[in-house]
Amino acid sequence: MSTRAQQFDAVVRRREQLSPHLVRLTLGVDGFVSTGIPDEWVGLVVPGQFQVRYYTVRSCADGQLVLDVVVHEVGLVTEWASRDVVGDTVVVTEPKGSFALPSDAEWLMLVGDLTALPAMARIAETVDLPTRVWAQVADAELHEGYLPTRAEVTWLAEHEGLAQTVEGLDWPGTPGYFWMAGESADMRAIRKHLMRDRKLAASAYDVMGYWRRAAQRQPRAVDPGPIYRQGKAAGLSDEEIWAKYDEAQHQGSQA
Ligand SMILES: Cc1cc2nc3c(=O)[nH]c(=O)nc-3n(C[C@H](O)[C@H](O)[C@H](O)COP(=O)(O)OP(=O)(O)OC[C@H]3O[C@@H](n4cnc5c(N)ncnc54)[C@H](O)[C@@H]3O)c2cc1C
Repeated sequence: MSTRAQQFDAVVRRREQLSPHLVRLTLGVDGFVSTGIPDEWVGLVVPGQFQVRYYTVRSCADGQLVLDVVVHEVGLVTEWASRDVVGDTVVVTEPKGSFALPSDAEWLMLVGDLTALPAMARIAETVDLPTRVWAQVADAELHEGYLPTRAEVTWLAEHEGLAQTVEGLDWPGTPGYFWMAGESADMRAIRKHLMRDRKLAASAYDVMGYWRRAAQRQPRAVDPGPIYRQGKAAGLSDEEIWAKYDEAQHQGSQA
């Protein structure tokens, strides 16, 4: 089975600064078809680079692909997206998603940082279940209007750790689905907590490492697509697949 992802050329049509740390890019792209999976992501290669970074498809319609990009202190895409990039041509890879709602789910709980906010917004907009969100997002501009009003949202302060938040959650007694993304080492610890302490079935949650805290620019990012496809083909659970992805990212950073 080939693991090479299909690629598309896309042109930046619009750049909007949604908040100090979040930039919305609208890309014009022909032939791109959404998977419909609400946390789907694409690989993005910006001009003059060959390294890929991964971004959630915030929305996709009529040949327009919207990505919400976090601009943090230093980074390959961060530096590019901080400038006026309208008119630039980028490459995006075919979308992949990992959100897998069990058929008996009666509720959703979503937890994450700013990098997870685009996915949490799209999930909350498209999945018709009672939804609670815990978001660690410092930019107050995003606290109104970014997430749909039907979701019950708790905005976490910077000092409120995501692990601590998850450990303190009040879990409903009915079946549901827990989705979370953020810094990889934090996510590893949370996955262990859900598995060992909460004893959740692997199908009841999806916890993804979206970025790695490191001293410098990532030497190379690891594509979650092939790992996800191979894991699915081998019958692994999402949780086992994302643990493999964390491991691959860790090895990548030591290469
Ligand atoms: C499936 C998936 C979906 C994702 N969706 C989104 C999305 O919708 N929007 C989004 O902005 N990101 C998203 N991410 C995370 C994004 O790919 C990473 O944050 C990426 O490293 C950013 O690339 P960069 O070129 O800006 O920084 P890099 O060159 O990769 O890293 C430079 C330095 O910045 C640090 N760093 C990287 N990311 C962050 C961060 N978020 N906050 C603080 N420091 C950081 C690194 O540790 C490193 O020291 C997603 C990741 C995955 C795997």
